Amino acid sequence: MTKLYYDLHTHTVWSDGELEPALLVANAAAAGVHVLALTDHDTMAGVDEAASAARNLGIQFIPGVELSVTWQGLTVHVVGLGLDADNARLREALEDLRERRIERGRAMVAALAAAGLGEAQSILDRPGIVSRVHVADWLVAQGHAPDRARAFKRFLTRGTPAYVVAQWPDLPAAVDWIRGAGGCAVLAHPIRYRLSGGRLDQLVRAFTEAGGAALEVVTAGLDAGEIGRLARLARRHALHASVGSDFHKALPWRPQPGGLPELPGDCQPVWDRWPGIAQGIK
Ligand code: AMP
Ligand code: MN
Ligand code: MN
Ligand code: MN
Repeated sequence: MTKLYYDLHTHTVWSDGELEPALLVANAAAAGVHVLALTDHDTMAGVDEAASAARNLGIQFIPGVELSVTWQGLTVHVVGLGLDADNARLREALEDLRERRIERGRAMVAALAAAGLGEAQSILDRPGIVSRVHVADWLVAQGHAPDRARAFKRFLTRGTPAYVVAQWPDLPAAVDWIRGAGGCAVLAHPIRYRLSGGRLDQLVRAFTEAGGAALEVVTAGLDAGEIGRLARLARRHALHASVGSDFHKALPWRPQPGGLPELPGDCQPVWDRWPGIAQGIK
């Protein structure tokens, strides 16, 4: 049986990524990815273009999304995979998220003006969702920060001038929307929340109780020790395991094969839940 390579977490210009959907898919195919999910933040606007590009290139496409969620005052991300983008409740939820993001964007624009940093209204005019990344890029373009990372650190994180507390939907709601649209819910990049072991366990328990299906065990930037820890965490909570690069930028992209490590053998892959996937490919 041919080995399949997966990247189940990627972004395009419709959220805070740099590539148009068709180019993302073309790069995925060129990199040897067989199964690609598009998971833009809080929007599925790119999935039609990506799906048709994937059809033309003969790779398998999974329509997805990465939902912003507030859990105990903390922002966490839940990836939904295998979604029906026409599902009415999911569409409504995404429309609400789009509006929340515009509202937060307006508040950030006002905060920037109040801090004497200038008029950033233009960031609200993009077709895709409004993200802190777009504010960061504006700050860099205006010369207020040398790069995106420092724009975040100086202006866009808790306790800095343009930080606006976001109130996202809760965990059970996000998981319900995903499941209601026929998808499975994956807790994204669990290490990035910087939680203690006990608190991360609490989050994973809440996610599991809400009906979550999988943990993202392999993602860019993790070492073997961290991957092993996440694999154990998934097993302890009887969750499946996912693989995703969380690709945003044109370069470097390190999907499987080669760039992202494989799932440890004792993980149950999330794609085992999709019996149809492998068949379309070989
Ligand atoms: P938002 O969902 O609008 O709050 O924006 C969060 C996005 O900003 C994340 O998905 C990352 O892509 C990006 N991000 C978060 N923190 C940083 C940082 N320190 N430097 C660069 N990008 C960041
Ligand atoms: Mn992002
Ligand atoms: Mn994320
Ligand atoms: Mn992401």
